[in-house]
Amino acid sequence: MNPKYKRILLKVSGEALSGGKGTGLDTDTLASIAAVVKQCREAGVEIAIVVGGGNFWRGRTSEDMNRTRADHMGMLATVMNSLALQSALEAAGVPTRVQTAIEMRQIAEPYIRGKAMSHLTSGKVVIFGCGTGNPFFSTDTAAALRAAEIDAEAILLAKNVDAVYDSDPAQNPNAKRFSKLSYKEVIHRGLKVMDTTATSLCMDNDIPILVFGIAQPENIIKVLCGENMGTIVSN
Ligand code: UDP
Repeated sequence: MNPKYKRILLKVSGEALSGGKGTGLDTDTLASIAAVVKQCREAGVEIAIVVGGGNFWRGRTSEDMNRTRADHMGMLATVMNSLALQSALEAAGVPTRVQTAIEMRQIAEPYIRGKAMSHLTSGKVVIFGCGTGNPFFSTDTAAALRAAEIDAEAILLAKNVDAVYDSDPAQNPNAKRFSKLSYKEVIHRGLKVMDTTATSLCMDNDIPILVFGIAQPENIIKVLCGENMGTIVSN
């Protein structure tokens, strides 16, 4: 493997961990993602991971509940996913730390940038749980924020769809697939790559977003080696 990047942030949506079921966790999917992350680590790439929580709970789609409380539940969902991924990585022999944006010291380390950096440089994978720690944000924004904080060279945005389209390819067989987009195009066309807050944070900090499908976890390796498997969003 000849990786193009030295340090990356991998964003995995909660749904991607459910193995096509949409909800809950799929052990085989977790194991296959862990196996690929292990190979990337062995190739010398420093990997931080932000996981979503949508396979358990999303604050924005909860109906009658107070939004802040619903988002607190969403952030807790990301911790379940973080711990599940940590288990899978450790089972594969990859030393891994979970750091949470909301303190829960009995379960995981609190997020401390300096500590995260030293874990990364010493070869550990760091998983960031609880998103940004604030309601009304998403784990995409957490990915953009942490990527900026740790000086990641790119965000690998692993999705259930294989690229960015102008409409849902599952609903519209004529949906247009993009291989390259600028941040401004994403924002102005209202494309559903990341939410606007996350996209503008990447734009301001010049962090490329590499979107690809996680149905084949080996795609992570191809993207790391510079292949455009889906859509590249950059300036
Ligand atoms: N969340 C939040 N603040 C954050 C990140 C996440 O409140 O900084 C909550 C929010 O309710 C969100 C849920 O956690 O819906 C799960 O995150 P997200 O929807 O981004 O997960 P994904 O769709 O990537 O699985």
